[in-house]
Amino acid sequence: MPDIVLKNVTKRFGKVYAVKNFDLAVEDRDFVTLLGPSGCGKTTTLRMISGLETPTEGEIKIDGKIVFSSYKQINLSPDKRDIGLLFQNYALWPHMTVFKNISFGLENLKWEKSNIKKRVYEMAELVKITDLLERYPAELSGGQQQRVAIARTLAPNPRVLLMDEPLSNLDAKLRMEMRSELKRLHKEIEATFVYVTHDQLEAMTLATKICLMKDGTLQQYAPPLAIYDDPKNLFVGDFIGNPSMNFIESKVSNIDAQSCLLKNEKLEFLFNFKTKTKEITEGQEVIVGIRPEDITISEDSTNKCTVYSTLPSGIETIVKMNLNGNLFTLVTFGRVDFKLDTEIGVAFNSNNYHIFSKDTGEKLATGSLKLLS
Ligand code: ATP
Repeated sequence: MPDIVLKNVTKRFGKVYAVKNFDLAVEDRDFVTLLGPSGCGKTTTLRMISGLETPTEGEIKIDGKIVFSSYKQINLSPDKRDIGLLFQNYALWPHMTVFKNISFGLENLKWEKSNIKKRVYEMAELVKITDLLERYPAELSGGQQQRVAIARTLAPNPRVLLMDEPLSNLDAKLRMEMRSELKRLHKEIEATFVYVTHDQLEAMTLATKICLMKDGTLQQYAPPLAIYDDPKNLFVGDFIGNPSMNFIESKVSNIDAQSCLLKNEKLEFLFNFKTKTKEITEGQEVIVGIRPEDITISEDSTNKCTVYSTLPSGIETIVKMNLNGNLFTLVTFGRVDFKLDTEIGVAFNSNNYHIFSKDTGEKLATGSLKLLS
């Protein structure tokens, strides 16, 4: 049974729809990231699940139990929802030791003293802070404080852990380390995680499923690589992936069941369909989407272009190149670099290029490309 279900949830602040007719089913033990640009409704959604925000309309169930229903007039307070909350400002109590910070909540829940001690040690071991239990928060690094906050949140053993950008105060290196710790933790404690982030890389690397939002509405809900390989619309294709997908405007011609021509004033491609999701018509204005790693450098290719800029980082090089007056970004792996303005050959060897409607942004088809001119 899904662990968290949102049905037709709407939250309005005056005239602003923060979240609109939103449906979501988070499975038991999933790690779902709520992702999207600033103001798209991620935090509001998380706060509605937690009970800190009251929806204007809709229904929310956690573990089969209705915790909010506008129709049935049910609204359980956060402490009755069996959830743990972890925010960006995790605010440890400065006058309490690490031990006390973790045990305090359990004392309030009237746990037995011996059980509290056992639980604090269990949690400390889990997040690797056993040797810090007698210290005060001011004597800890940012990463150590974050671990204490996680231990404190997990101590009462919530089945659901809700997190709002919990790593954004940490420096890049620590954030990376904590991401892998969180992923490990998720597996070890077998809870359901819902995690808000605006960082697509964080969402991709952590999640079992990404819930991508825009303007309070759901754009796509799927595992990270499924979203990456099969974006439902232009917004999703553009938001997911770094460097971003290349987009070229073109017009459809010579369409039949297998293929079509895609032309603009500088380029002409033959596009062979692998899958078609929508009707495509002769003369339709479309946008072709090409992932940077789906353009490969190929010495013998007759598709020649000039190097516009390069960004070598050791593990990979991001190359911007000029193909008949269109700028494309490609990624090539390993320690390679190119002189600016030199000529290189490129190939389009993938069968995962996309065509989107210029009008609605919806994906129309996926397939292979052959550059004709
Ligand atoms: P960010 O990544 O910037 O935190 P978000 O995706 O979490 O953004 P929300 O904080 O959920 O977005 O806000 C969604 C929309 O609702 C925004 O337009 C925001 O201005 C509005 N909003 C949120 N809280 C309130 C409030 N208390 N009163 C009025 N409007 C609000």
